[in-house]
Amino acid sequence: MSEFTAADFAASLAQVAETLAEHRDELCRLDGIVGDGDHGLAMADGFAAAAKAAQDAAGGTLADVGNAAAKALLNAVGASSGPLYATALMRAAKAAGPRAMMPLEETPVLIAAMAEGIVARGKAEEGERTMVDAWAPAARAGSEGFAAMRAAAAAGAEATRAMVATKGRTSRLAERALGHIDPGAASAVLVIDALTRHWESL
Ligand code: ADP
Ligand code: MG
Repeated sequence: MSEFTAADFAASLAQVAETLAEHRDELCRLDGIVGDGDHGLAMADGFAAAAKAAQDAAGGTLADVGNAAAKALLNAVGASSGPLYATALMRAAKAAGPRAMMPLEETPVLIAAMAEGIVARGKAEEGERTMVDAWAPAARAGSEGFAAMRAAAAAGAEATRAMVATKGRTSRLAERALGHIDPGAASAVLVIDALTRHWESL
């Protein structure tokens, strides 16, 4: 049986950082439609810092890697996606546990833990036009395999095109976003894609 090591966890976070850097401008553009236009920067900078800290912690346990990444991400990001992803990584760290490796087939549990962390921290429900619209369906598809998780995340993100955000935005402004994918849902798809494709390659 294949094992998923602390070094693998760090490497998968490096993949996430690379993907987010490639999509930084596109995510900022999506966030600029109704938000403040910083989402691409927040995600690219946040995961660059997280990946570096994870690499530095890769000699420790899976939990060490996740917690180091969470702390670095929180320090690097001022936007609301910072605490959301920091909590996601802390939950992944807790789910992986203080062990040097875990069975590779258990990695879908990490996606479920991240989704739970984001919901616990942000209190958003599905249908409110947030990253939860991608994370929650991906977590539910966990038993069906990585491809199903990616498809569920992508379908959830697509559905945000027709959603109007209700939290903290005037409705007139929020309607401008109709037809566009929520930036947090778009980046969630990228995070889930990068993680699961890396895990699949192990
Ligand atoms: P900010 O809104 O502080 O500038 P970002 O631009 O980094 O933060 O992130 C915006 C994204 O965060 C949104 O597109 C949405 O998907 C997500 N988001 C905002 N509030 C919440 C929440 N309470 N729960 C989950 N996701 C949220
Ligand atoms: Mg923003």
